[in-house]
Amino acid sequence: MRRKLAAGNWKMNGTGQALSELADLARAHPDPACDILICPPATLLHRAVQISADNAINVGAQDCHAEASGAHTGDISAEMILDAGARHVILGHSERRQDHGESDAAVCAKAQAALNVGLTAIICLGETLAQRDASATLDIIAGQLSGSVPDAVTGENLVIAYEPIWAIGSGRIPEPAQIGEVHGFLRARLKERFGADISDAVRLLYGGSVKPENAAEIFAVPDVDGALVGGASLKAAEFSPIIAALE
Ligand code: 13P
Repeated sequence: MRRKLAAGNWKMNGTGQALSELADLARAHPDPACDILICPPATLLHRAVQISADNAINVGAQDCHAEASGAHTGDISAEMILDAGARHVILGHSERRQDHGESDAAVCAKAQAALNVGLTAIICLGETLAQRDASATLDIIAGQLSGSVPDAVTGENLVIAYEPIWAIGSGRIPEPAQIGEVHGFLRARLKERFGADISDAVRLLYGGSVKPENAAEIFAVPDVDGALVGGASLKAAEFSPIIAALE
């Protein structure tokens, strides 16, 4: 059975002071019934890992380069993330696809680099509002899934986050039936490509305006194995009830 995952993406938020939120979160969930992951900015990775060494909080990064090393000023490699003590990396977030022009092929190459060193890849996908309005959601998702996910996944080392772009930071979320349609579709496509054992092991997260008030409704949707939470993951007091809704 898949263990649920509550993942927080801090995006470009947080300096050292914010690490007290990690300690608060750990105190609130000493023995959680789900996995808890915080992905702080790269500058905080190592300190976050140190703080979380003796508690149930896992730490992940928000991006990595596709190559193992080299002349790529400002980038960090999957091995560097592993060396900092993190075990997960978010890849292909829509903000990176938009801000940095990351294509499905680029995301796939990054995911392969992550898998090569033993990181778990959290690959993000999702449609724009215009694409949803044009009834193109499943086509878009299918293309992103086949283009962004490398062949080498085992199931345990892959997490897919469905994040409708129009739901991110907007306070709007899809209807539960719409989330269920996409998650069911993702599971079926994974099964077609990788077989039942792998597709049953992949965790499918929903992301986009997850809050304490809507978490239980979202988590009741079949094939939702957790959430990738942005704004509401920055404060332990707000993330904690979302985790509790998953436990
Ligand atoms: P919000 O929870 O702030 O809408 O962000 C979602 C997200 O992009 C997580 O990766």
